[in-house]
Amino acid sequence: MKRLAQIAPTEFDVPERFSVDPRGRYQSHWKALVRPRNISEVQDVLRYANDEILPIVPYGGGTGLVGGQCFPHARGAICLSLEHFNEIEINADNVRVGAGVVLDQLHLALENTPRHFPMHLASSGSAQIGGLISTNAGGVNVIRWGNMGGLVMGAQAVLADGRIVDGTAGLRKDNTGYKLDRMMIGAEGTLGVLTSARLKTFQRDEAKAVIMSSIASPQAALDLLCEIQSSLVEISAFELISGEGLRFRLDAGFDVAPIGCPDWSVLIELGGMQVNVDEAVEKLAGQLPNAVLAQNENQSSKLWHIRETIPLANRHIGAIASHDIALPIDLVPQFVMEMDKILKPFDLRINAFGHLGDGNLHYNLFPSHGRAKKDYNAEKLSHIVYQKVVEMGGSISAEHGIGRHKALMMEKYGLGEKLSAMGDLKRAFDPKNILNPGVFFSKM
Ligand SMILES: Cc1cc2nc3c(=O)[nH]c(=O)nc-3n(C[C@H](O)[C@H](O)[C@H](O)COP(=O)(O)OP(=O)(O)OC[C@H]3O[C@@H](n4cnc5c(N)ncnc54)[C@H](O)[C@@H]3O)c2cc1C
Repeated sequence: MKRLAQIAPTEFDVPERFSVDPRGRYQSHWKALVRPRNISEVQDVLRYANDEILPIVPYGGGTGLVGGQCFPHARGAICLSLEHFNEIEINADNVRVGAGVVLDQLHLALENTPRHFPMHLASSGSAQIGGLISTNAGGVNVIRWGNMGGLVMGAQAVLADGRIVDGTAGLRKDNTGYKLDRMMIGAEGTLGVLTSARLKTFQRDEAKAVIMSSIASPQAALDLLCEIQSSLVEISAFELISGEGLRFRLDAGFDVAPIGCPDWSVLIELGGMQVNVDEAVEKLAGQLPNAVLAQNENQSSKLWHIRETIPLANRHIGAIASHDIALPIDLVPQFVMEMDKILKPFDLRINAFGHLGDGNLHYNLFPSHGRAKKDYNAEKLSHIVYQKVVEMGGSISAEHGIGRHKALMMEKYGLGEKLSAMGDLKRAFDPKNILNPGVFFSKM
């Protein structure tokens, strides 16, 4: 291990912040923390780990919610931080960024330019480009601009044996065989280490509007979404929020939302040409008498703050089980209603919220008042939820990934064949299984 320190900046006494994950499920065992400064150091670190058959875990902002950035095994691993890869190069219609650039830094760098990068999520103060690509992150604007994978023009990564794959030349056309760099999207650090990427940027909207309103039911929210979709305005975000989530915020000490705590509400962001935004807002004001329309950027941020603090409020209450699931969009209301009935006998509080426009719900279960988490069988409850998701043709992981937390679920919920084909790919890229062992494949 001492040789590592001759290859790149290395610490054997690893700071605690690299060892905890946001949900407090895993405590990592690191043999060392390495922070390479350039791509050749990454190559040398990987060649060394490959020769010595040492597990190595690429580490971004540490905000992953499925334990992919953790290594809770006694065997120990090398934690490879990409934080020195923080260069940002702004081009006409794209940016070239290092894998260690924090998302908020990228937004800041683009602030006074005509273009923006449309990835927004509550972890943007820490999540890095490498982590966002590796988890194919979603966030609140997927309905309009797609998820992280769709925003990547090309990526650069180092493979386990030190070879480089590079798709960052900025070519619009390049049909020279397999798109190896794109294999890194959603690979959760198991196929290579991302070092940089070229990302698409977009012209800023002429106008935008942020609206929060109570809504009768998830079905009414879906009907509203479809109606707006058939107009000329662009929908940048369409979030469903449950009354339980708003009440949890109050328990956690956050301000009351301007619409109070209705059973269901929606947070909508519209954008595009001024005339189309104005027309849509006028129509919505007629349909949603209790709606609150942000009058300026500060009020927009306040409305978004309500949505963004729901995960913090959830943590304050303490979930029995959390589920990041996707369903065919038109089945979301049916799922919510059927699950209400199925779970009624278990005496729970359910906070179902999320990106309705993407069919993505965060379906989280909490103890009822006066009861504790330990009074419930979390595994049994999760099984009921996932079974229903699969039965309705949905996905057991919408945007957070599989990591370690869901590795055993792949086979259990009908993804056995996919997992086996992924295993073939993994063996081709990383025959000694040094890159993030335990992620996707629970057998190490
Ligand atoms: C409050 C909060 C809100 C969130 N909201 C959302 C949301 O709305 N949508 C969403 O999709 N996610 C969300 N997340 C989850 C998380 O922010 C994303 O998964 C994010 O993409 C992780 O980025 P990171 O840099 O923190 O990666 P890490 O947590 O450091 O790592 C995540 C995975 O990526 C791999 N990885 C990291 N860097 C590299 C690299 N350079 N090369 C190869 N592999 C790498 C790691 O090995 C690991 O498997 C949220 C998390 C929190 C805490």
